Amino acid sequence: MGKRTKQYKKLMRSFEFLGFRTPYQVLMTSDILLDTLKLDLITLFEKTLSTKNLKPMITQCCIRALYDKNHGPNRDPAVAAAIERAKTFERRRCGHLMDEDAKSERECMLSVVDPKGNGQNKFRYIVATQDEELRNRLRSVVPTPLMYVRRSVVILEPMAEASAKVRAREELAK
Ligand SMILES: [Zn+2]
Repeated sequence: MGKRTKQYKKLMRSFEFLGFRTPYQVLMTSDILLDTLKLDLITLFEKTLSTKNLKPMITQCCIRALYDKNHGPNRDPAVAAAIERAKTFERRRCGHLMDEDAKSERECMLSVVDPKGNGQNKFRYIVATQDEELRNRLRSVVPTPLMYVRRSVVILEPMAEASAKVRAREELAK
């Protein structure tokens, strides 16, 4: 087993200690889909998370962001391909479709992962996004495993400090 595989396995065990269970729910933003059309993204996620048991998901706003890009004479055929892939995922209802102002993907994801705005990843989502600012904000939502893709490699970030503190506290309480 490769060094990275071992490291990720250990990391996911730490997250399981904090309540993650398979099937892991992996929420994606549109950017990661657009960046990985040539990759077998779900298989890469399965390898990264050491499980065949995961549920790819996308929020209504994130798939809408793709539909919004899919018109006009200069539209990128990659967008249509990303939509086809996104359609195979479970749709996460976020309740924003009727909002007067469309939510940005970032806002949508923050409200879905941390519905009460109290820094808790209530439903134990794993988030895969190329949006650095979103990952940055989610580091203080505990506990949230964060993934992104760089040069065709899926990266699972080390546990953020906020989550690591919770884990240390719970371990002491055992
Ligand atoms: Zn939404």
